[in-house]
Amino acid sequence: MRISSGVMNCVACSVSSRFVATYCDIAPGHPDHGPYHDTEYGFPVRDDDRLFERLVLEINQAGLSWLTILRKREAFRAAFDDFSLERVARYDARRKAKLLANPGIIRNRLKVDAAVENAKRILALRKTHGSFAAWLDAHHPRTKEEWVKLFKRTFVFTGGEITGSFLLSTGYLPGAHEEWCPVYAAQDDSCMYC
Ligand SMILES: [Zn+2]
Repeated sequence: MRISSGVMNCVACSVSSRFVATYCDIAPGHPDHGPYHDTEYGFPVRDDDRLFERLVLEINQAGLSWLTILRKREAFRAAFDDFSLERVARYDARRKAKLLANPGIIRNRLKVDAAVENAKRILALRKTHGSFAAWLDAHHPRTKEEWVKLFKRTFVFTGGEITGSFLLSTGYLPGAHEEWCPVYAAQDDSCMYC
C-alpha cells in the first residue's frame, strides 16, 4: 500500500531524493491503521464471513481512503449483519434501500448491489468447494493478473486494484509488508502452506 510520495532533502548532505512512504511507515502507532496493520493486514483469514467482510470493505474503498473505511467498519458490521453471507445473500430491495439511507456506511447503490450479489456468488462457491477459503486455496498460488481474470468472471465490482488489495490483505499475494517491518518476519513464521 503506497501512501504518499514526494521529495525530501537529506539532513546530512542536502541532496534531494524522491521518497515513497509505505503502509509500514505510516500505520504503526496510528489509532486506526495501527491495529489493522499489526494484526490483520497480510494475515491469512479462514472464516468465510470475515473474508466476505474484507472483500466488501475493499470494494467500498474504491475512490475513497482506507482510513475512511476503517473508521466506518463498525457501522458496516452493524448495517450488514456482521457480514453473515447467508443473511446478506437474502437482502431484498427494501433492505438495500435501508442500507442506502444509512449515513454510517458508504451509500453507493453499485457497492451495495455488489455486496449482495457477491454474497450469493460466494454461497455458490461453497456448494462446489465447501467454503470461500477452500475455493481461494484451490486457486493458490497464481499471479495477480491470473487472479484478476478469475475474480472478474466469478464476482462483480472486482477490478484489478480491488482484487489485488483483497488478496494482498488476506495473504494470497505476497508483499503486504516491507521486509524491514516487524510484521513481515512474524508472517513469514506463520505461513499457511508449510
Ligand atoms: Zn508492515
